[in-house]
Amino acid sequence: MSAQTIASLLLFLAGLFAGLAAAYGLWRNRTARKILSADAPSADEGRAALPQIANILPVPALVVDAKGLILYANAAASAAFGNLLPGSLLYLKFRAPEMRLAIETALAKHENTAFEMAERVPVEHWFRVDVCHLPTDTPDEKNLALFFRDQSESHKLDRMRSDFVANASHELRTPLASMTGFIETLKGPARDDAAARDRFLDIMQQQAGRMARLIDDLLSLSRLEMRPVVALDQNVDLQSITDHVLDAMRPLCVELGVAIERNFGAGPFVVPGVRDELIQVIENLVENACKYGQHGKKVVVSLSRNGGEIRMSFRDFGPGIAADHIPRLTERFYRVDAGSSRAQKGTGLGLAIVKHILTRHHARLSIQSELGAGSEFAVNFLAPDAAQHSSQ
Ligand code: ADP
Repeated sequence: MSAQTIASLLLFLAGLFAGLAAAYGLWRNRTARKILSADAPSADEGRAALPQIANILPVPALVVDAKGLILYANAAASAAFGNLLPGSLLYLKFRAPEMRLAIETALAKHENTAFEMAERVPVEHWFRVDVCHLPTDTPDEKNLALFFRDQSESHKLDRMRSDFVANASHELRTPLASMTGFIETLKGPARDDAAARDRFLDIMQQQAGRMARLIDDLLSLSRLEMRPVVALDQNVDLQSITDHVLDAMRPLCVELGVAIERNFGAGPFVVPGVRDELIQVIENLVENACKYGQHGKKVVVSLSRNGGEIRMSFRDFGPGIAADHIPRLTERFYRVDAGSSRAQKGTGLGLAIVKHILTRHHARLSIQSELGAGSEFAVNFLAPDAAQHSSQ
């Protein structure tokens, strides 16, 4: 391929990505402005800078011929995919069948095209690849430019979204199916059976309660996601809201046979935040400690100050949690034991909500647990005086 052809390939590359280059602040650079502007001093001066421009393009770009031989790879392409020697075959480097198909289609139809492909080594990455025809000197010489845009993040989000919808639907469908079954039985075989009717209505009430709890938690999560940043403009006294929650939960603790011990150090324990959200955090953590740590018969709720931090913790003496589950507990619908969670009226969303709320309060959740000895869920807030210093 002649030097002139390479120059024209690069000219085309630069043309396609001039907008992108501008977005990355290239316009602020005097040399680039001179080259890319309409009144560039001379075409030669512009061409001389084209290899540099191709090399600083922030997306991997390749030029291949009609046989799939690599003619050019910019620096971003080498950084992303390793060695791409000119003259080597593209399909030896990229095994995705979509790539060969897209290139063949582009050549056959003489149209630009695009496709998606995954590179799984060393970690999975998804790319949208644009395949564009380049102008050449002779009509039978056909060269293509390939531009790779990394779509991994949006792929991950899409997958999380569809997993979430599948999980939520499954959680709702189970009680719904059970209720439908009981309605049919009550309309048919159990129509005149008063004892069965009472029993079935009780079960249906429980299932309706389960659906209502799930919908409440889903709505809480969705509200939190819709407003990821909130003004932390209330001075929330953690001691007073903890007392309030513990008083309100006394009937549940009595029902479960769990005694609550309050271990509050010297305050004050006031943090900037949203009172109702912090109440929700305490409710979830106390409820979990009482439900899952029930057979330890005791839960210790502590508040303490440690240097620039305020620490709030919930310690139970239940069965504990195996270490490999701990990092995943705040994922939506993650449960150590789905059966026991459902039996305890759990939705699998409580800790996901806790994590969300704490993140927007710049607080940190830590979980310590030992099998057979119990668990401690602790929340660390920056004390307001320390928070002030750190933001200065
Ligand atoms: P759930 O609604 O199922 O309680 P959470 O998100 O609150 O959902 O908790 C997720 C899982 O973490 C629970 O299903 C349970 O398996 C485990 N878990 C939470 N707190 C404790 C605890 N104090 N002791 C043991 N396991 C716990």
